[in-house]
Amino acid sequence: MRILMVAAEYAPLAKAGGLGDMVAALAGALAARGHEVKVVLPLYGDIDRERHGLAPCPQLPPFAVRRGDAVRRCRFWRATAAAGPDVLLLENEGLFGRAGVYGYAEAGEFADTLPRLALLAQGALTATVMLDWAPDVIHVHDAAAALAAVDLACWSRTGTPLAATRTLLTIHNLAHQSLHPRWEFPGLDLPTRLAWHPGEMEFHGGLNLMKAGILLSDRVNTVSPTYAHEVTLDEDLGCGLAGVLRDRGAAFSGILNGMDRTAWDPATDRCLPANYSARAPAGKTACRTALLRELGLEDGGPVLVSVGRLAHQKGIDLLLPLVDGLVDEGWRLAVLGTGEPALEQALRGAAAARPGRVAFAPRFDEALSRRFYAGADAFVMPSRFEPCGLAQLYALRYGTPPVVRRTGGLADTVADAAGPDGVGFVFDEATPASLGAALARAIEAWREPDRWGSLVRRGMDADHGWAAPAAAYEDLYRSLEGT
Ligand code: ADP
Repeated sequence: MRILMVAAEYAPLAKAGGLGDMVAALAGALAARGHEVKVVLPLYGDIDRERHGLAPCPQLPPFAVRRGDAVRRCRFWRATAAAGPDVLLLENEGLFGRAGVYGYAEAGEFADTLPRLALLAQGALTATVMLDWAPDVIHVHDAAAALAAVDLACWSRTGTPLAATRTLLTIHNLAHQSLHPRWEFPGLDLPTRLAWHPGEMEFHGGLNLMKAGILLSDRVNTVSPTYAHEVTLDEDLGCGLAGVLRDRGAAFSGILNGMDRTAWDPATDRCLPANYSARAPAGKTACRTALLRELGLEDGGPVLVSVGRLAHQKGIDLLLPLVDGLVDEGWRLAVLGTGEPALEQALRGAAAARPGRVAFAPRFDEALSRRFYAGADAFVMPSRFEPCGLAQLYALRYGTPPVVRRTGGLADTVADAAGPDGVGFVFDEATPASLGAALARAIEAWREPDRWGSLVRRGMDADHGWAAPAAAYEDLYRSLEGT
């Protein structure tokens, strides 16, 4: 099949979270299964063109597109890797030339988000026409790319390569819907009915790209079966769109993400001071010693780490009231993450209060994240909601049992140690007490090396690769044929 993916992230070129990993891994898995896959993303100003082997794409000469009153001059760059998906990066200095994928709306950054997303969508569709390449499916990821499906639903496409193309929207996080004031609507050049009640893009008097994507894509899915249930049943998790998703009925489903088992493999990971595997685990001890040294932590107890965005969603605040008790019990704690200033400040305070026992690395650093996954004994992910979560899969693969809340993809990927297939520790309530009880069970298990060893091995052996999810996406694409 011919598949065009449109996304704001694509690892390792541009990554702000799990979305970038997922798009790259799925595109790669589908290409490896013999499909013709192209990916379009913006050429952000901080993408290192030389390091990633990017060059202007000769088949796509510079072009200009018009939307509303704006005319934008663009050019496509291409990643020159011989195998895998064809990755096209859309250059436009004014909109994409700066560093960063999203910017913090709260800080007034990226006030031109809507024009940026509109250009990404238009650029992606224009590329297919310029290449005379007719995709069977345009697979758009999250609200940031949803406009490509919306445009396609609204534009006349008879006689273009897109005449028979179908669309799939994958929701990676329903909490990020790309909301915009209605006065921006004329700039989109879309039919007026979309923006007025009960139009597909209208949302409480403003514009909602996720809602429009959900209603105007041929199919919609999200990244785990449990999250797919939760967002239709629980109005809070549905973030105002539970009813809209329910209305899509069988056209909305959940497919659990996989992880790239080659890119994330402790046996070959070059960022680690030593390599190891489930069968030859010795290197993990060296990774642990090195991480403790790197973070200035004293040895003497299990090392509990967290890697993730410091956001309310991730529930790291549930850990804060437990810090003193955990340290007294013997835990060493380390957090790698950036995000909400109040959480950063609280974590700085915790590290300053318990030197040698608590460490905080307030930065985004993938190599360091790999040393965290490898060097820790246990991983904590107390998310209030979690569409899929990749961090717990990396922790499992690196032999670091996760302690997670039973929600979304965490519920679908982490079986509790109490059962025969257990790989981690699962708790139910989003409270410090419930998290604390799970951590108490974890340290008890850690004190029994045989029991802990089999838990670690089961987690490392679990197959969360892309073979099954890629086949599920293939089935979903095929189900669109002829609809
Ligand atoms: P989300 O997409 O909601 O942020 P996921 O668990 O799906 O959560 O994916 C998070 C990804 O981002 C993982 O690859 C994780 O290792 C990475 N990540 C998060 N924070 C950091 C950080 N501070 N430094 C390096 N990598 C990070």
